[in-house]
Amino acid sequence: SGVLYIVATPIGNLGDISQRAADVLGGVDCIAAEDTRHSQRLLQALGIQKPLLALHEHNERERCGQVIDRLKSGESIALVSDAGTPLISDPGFVLVRAARAEGLRVTPVPGPSAIITALSAAGLPTHRFTFEGFLPTKRKARADALAALKKETRTLVFYEAPHRVRETMAEISAVMGGDREVVLARELTKTFETFYSGTASEVEVLLGTDDYAERGEYVVMVAGAQAETDEAAVVDADRLLEVLLAELP
Ligand code: SAM
Repeated sequence: SGVLYIVATPIGNLGDISQRAADVLGGVDCIAAEDTRHSQRLLQALGIQKPLLALHEHNERERCGQVIDRLKSGESIALVSDAGTPLISDPGFVLVRAARAEGLRVTPVPGPSAIITALSAAGLPTHRFTFEGFLPTKRKARADALAALKKETRTLVFYEAPHRVRETMAEISAVMGGDREVVLARELTKTFETFYSGTASEVEVLLGTDDYAERGEYVVMVAGAQAETDEAAVVDADRLLEVLLAELP
C-alpha cells in the first residue's frame, strides 16, 4: 500500500519550504489540502502539478474513507494544511488516526509551525511549555479557560485571531495580573514580523497604540506563574519526615 505523508509548509515565507517537502509533494500521486486554491499557489511556486483533493474540517470524516482506499490501492498521498504543520490546530487528525488503525504507513515531513517558531525567538522559558490552541470565542468560556491556567507554571502558548487579540490581552491582564510577562509574535517570517513584549499591561498599551494591531496573525505567549516552590517543598519535607519516622523501630 501507499504512504501517507504529513507535510509541513511555510507559515508565511515561501523560502521555508524544505527540500524534502518539495521532493515529497512532487513525488506523490495526490495532495490532500485544507484549501485547494490556497495550496495550488504554493505548488505553482514550486513548479509542481498534482491532482488536489479537498480535506477540511467539514468533510474530513467523509473524505477519510476515500483517502484510505486510495492508500490501500497503492497510491501515495501528501496531506498539507494552509500553513505550518497539519493537525496542529488544523485538519488531519481523523485521517491520521484512521490510517494508523488500518496499519498504513504514515510518515511526517517536518517543517514550520507557528508555536515553535514563536517560542524560539520570544525570550520566554522554553524548557517546558503548554500549547493551548485557540481560546474559546465566547467571553465567559475564555475567561474561565484563562482562570483555569492562572497557576500553570509552564510557559503558555495560544493561537489567536487578529480581531480578538486586544480583548484577549485585556482578559490576560485581568485574570493573570497586569504584571505577568507576555510576548506576542505577529506575522512570523513575513515582512511585518513584530514581537511585542513586556508585562501584560505594557503589551496592552503597545497594541492600543498600533494601528496595524488588528491585522496579521498572532501567537500569544504568557510566562508561567511563579512556582510556589518554597511552601510546597516544606510540606513535602514534613510529609517525608512523617513517613520515615513511622518506619523507625
Ligand atoms: N498548523 C499551523 C501551525 O503549525 O502553526 C497553525 C494553523 S492555525 C489554523 C492558524 C494560527 O496559527 C493563526 O491564527 C495564528 O495564531 C498562528 N499563525 C500561523 N502563521 C502565523 C504567523 N506567520 N505568525 C504568527 N502566527 C501565525
